[in-house]
Amino acid sequence: MKPDDLRTAIFPTRYIQGPGAIHTLPEWILKLGSNALIISGRKSADIFLPDLIQRIPGVVHVERFRGECTRKEIERIRTLAGNAGCDVVVALGGGKVIDTGKAVAMELDAKIIIAPTIASNDAPCSAISIVYNDNGIFESVIHLKRNPDLVLVDSEIISHAPVRLLIAGMGDALSTWFEADSCFRSGSPNEAGGYSTRSARTMARLCYDSLLEFGVEAVNSCLEQRVSQALEYIIEANTLMSGLGFESAGLGSAHAIHNGLTCHKGTHAYYHGEKVAFGVLAGLFLAERPEPLIQEVYSFCRSVGLPVTLAMIGINDPTEDDLKRIAEKACLPGESIWHEPVEINADRVMKAIKKADQRGNNAHHPSTDKL
Ligand SMILES: [Zn+2]
Repeated sequence: MKPDDLRTAIFPTRYIQGPGAIHTLPEWILKLGSNALIISGRKSADIFLPDLIQRIPGVVHVERFRGECTRKEIERIRTLAGNAGCDVVVALGGGKVIDTGKAVAMELDAKIIIAPTIASNDAPCSAISIVYNDNGIFESVIHLKRNPDLVLVDSEIISHAPVRLLIAGMGDALSTWFEADSCFRSGSPNEAGGYSTRSARTMARLCYDSLLEFGVEAVNSCLEQRVSQALEYIIEANTLMSGLGFESAGLGSAHAIHNGLTCHKGTHAYYHGEKVAFGVLAGLFLAERPEPLIQEVYSFCRSVGLPVTLAMIGINDPTEDDLKRIAEKACLPGESIWHEPVEINADRVMKAIKKADQRGNNAHHPSTDKL
């Protein structure tokens, strides 16, 4: 980064989190507009949705999401919302509903409210949508003009979602600090079209510290379907800190290695955050991070149940060719791996992946793997 390069940070307009937050949705719809389309991705939402809709009669239409954020699905919902004259779009569900809702709202120039029902990724706060083709393969990234108008996170709902999703969210959040730090050290740009501010970097660090301090307790509280302070902190880390962190502080090797891993069919049954977590581990070896830090991250992953070996993300007995393909994909031009402050080539990445897997297998302590 040169002294005259511009530091840029972007944020959602408002972020609200807590038990029962979803019940304020009718008020927020009326504050932001007069005619809303709710895209609902979860059957579980059917329990509370009718009550919310009843409180603002005639204002809300509900449409069930069809499962994938594709060009076709965005078109379909945009047409429905456009015909109904909607000025507010509410995305209620997981990452794919959220990405669809953001794209629809941008095309209609409508306000967008994001109400995540899981905390498995950092989609809620960001100004991008990831579009897939009908077969679920990555197609393109849509850059939106602005971040969501409101992110409304009900921790009660998230405490009832499967714990594996919360853990996957921690895997995604685990990458935030390491990638932010790499961008800072190499003077690389962030995802907001500028360079990291000191505040974005601090947010990324707080994200990592929150995981170490509250991760295990949050997992236990989610297993008991109970909202605790620790769970609140982890939801905030997974959703707000991780979202602001990746967008305003930048991406690095973990997400690029994740992208490489997706070319292996075995990984398709695993969540984004689970693959990103393994990307973090490989990144530690790639960047030759100090041994105590490597141990800290491995023991964190084991303590919350994040994968530490290739087999744990569906890659059993990989061939040299498998690993080469993964490494080469991670090193494609334009990948965020080039933000790392070290020499990058497919050979080094392949070695780092092997070392990460070896470490995960060698220092295997079954007793600490389970909660
Ligand atoms: Zn991610």
